Amino acid sequence: MNDASEQNREALEGKLDGQNQRIHQPAKLPVPHFERPSIRLSPRPYISEKTLAARWEKLAELSSREHLLDPHTEKHAACYNKNIEHFIGTVKMPVGLAGPLRINGLYAQDDFLIPLATTEAALVASYNRGARLITAAGGASAMLVSEGVTRSPAFMFYNLCEAGQFVAWVTSKFDLFKEISESTTSHGKLKNIDVHIEGNHVYLVFEFTTGDASGQNMVTFATNAVYQHILEHTPVKPEGSFLDGNLSGDKKANSFAMRHVRGKKVVAEVHISREMLGKFLHTTPERMVDFGVVATTGAMINGSIGANAHYANALAALYIACGQDAACVHESAIGITRMKVNRDGGLHTSVTLPNLIVGTVGGGTSLPSQKACLDILGLHGAGNAKALAEVIACICLAGELSIVGAFAAEHFSRAHEKLARKQPN
Ligand code: NAP
Repeated sequence: MNDASEQNREALEGKLDGQNQRIHQPAKLPVPHFERPSIRLSPRPYISEKTLAARWEKLAELSSREHLLDPHTEKHAACYNKNIEHFIGTVKMPVGLAGPLRINGLYAQDDFLIPLATTEAALVASYNRGARLITAAGGASAMLVSEGVTRSPAFMFYNLCEAGQFVAWVTSKFDLFKEISESTTSHGKLKNIDVHIEGNHVYLVFEFTTGDASGQNMVTFATNAVYQHILEHTPVKPEGSFLDGNLSGDKKANSFAMRHVRGKKVVAEVHISREMLGKFLHTTPERMVDFGVVATTGAMINGSIGANAHYANALAALYIACGQDAACVHESAIGITRMKVNRDGGLHTSVTLPNLIVGTVGGGTSLPSQKACLDILGLHGAGNAKALAEVIACICLAGELSIVGAFAAEHFSRAHEKLARKQPN
């Protein structure tokens, strides 16, 4: 029996008695009970002086108001109205800078300072080290190669024949569906409708480009307009239907995005000389490549989608800092890092991230701290989403180089110990 099942058994059997004998009593859980909770939220989810005061009256005994509803947050509370319900304040995340990171991209062409919000020691230091290395090597190349955000209504039919007739009707209506969906948005454009039949169910995967917005609301509203039209006009009535049948991949890592795109797909790469690798990361290209082989094999054994060392660290920290939807890290963190000794004896490293759901307008991008972080990048507002995606891929590249370097030089544990445990208070 492994440790985990031993723990389960102990929890289920109850604790040891005084004589260190195991007593075989089943564990007890409280039974469901139905009295009114002593604390209840008001039904109005919005932000106003009155609702804030009422919420804090209830919270006063539980928590410290000044740490959540500080004077600055209170003064600007109204700006959060479209981003949250039952608001009580803001959580302060520490934000650090990595860089400058030189990027020679299709859209991002500058030396960027990257704001990263995290409570994990060593994270910003690691990205900073990778960014400095890339910059010293002349910069990373980056290329946004495709875009598309999906919603996937699903329709249930009595039998396969009806499902087939429905598909025949739907596939003749692309131009009409494009017109209907694009009537709900001035930036969303319908690219494609992919049809997937499973048994007597039909999934329609609507794929849009979304301008500078990450686009999840945009594609939901646009798809819903077509979905309602379909329900009203289809010659073959479904027995049941849903606006999304979970084939969109929204907030779920999935292998379809790995060979296609959801959000923005970006590839980035850098060549680093043997000397520079020794100077910055204290290791060799061969040792880096060996780690890459071992780590990719480990990822395969675990059934990972793609293989990378830690895209999620940069993505979570940057998404939080820059007003992106942090739950999308789950899907965005798939991708492939690859390393090879190049023809000059240096190291070539590439990253491919097919699922960056990011924007520079909409969502949380115009909230005060989040806008301030996008301003550091010079990428707040219209015209900047493609560049932001390239920057994100490049900071992931920096993180891959740094962490693989740390494992290759056997510095990984030491760096965390130094930065997380031995810093001055
Ligand atoms: P949004 O803030 O709901 O919409 C973006 C707005 O910006 C649209 O009104 C759009 O107008 C406008 N806009 C102005 N200039 C633009 C430009 N240059 N490019 C693109 N749009 C421009 O944001 P969203 O990106 O659609 O949705 C992101 C939010 O959805 C995030 O907060 C995320 O957490 C949330 N979300 C929603 C769902 C869902 O299923 N509904 C799922 C996951 C996450 P037009 O539309 O007229 O172009």
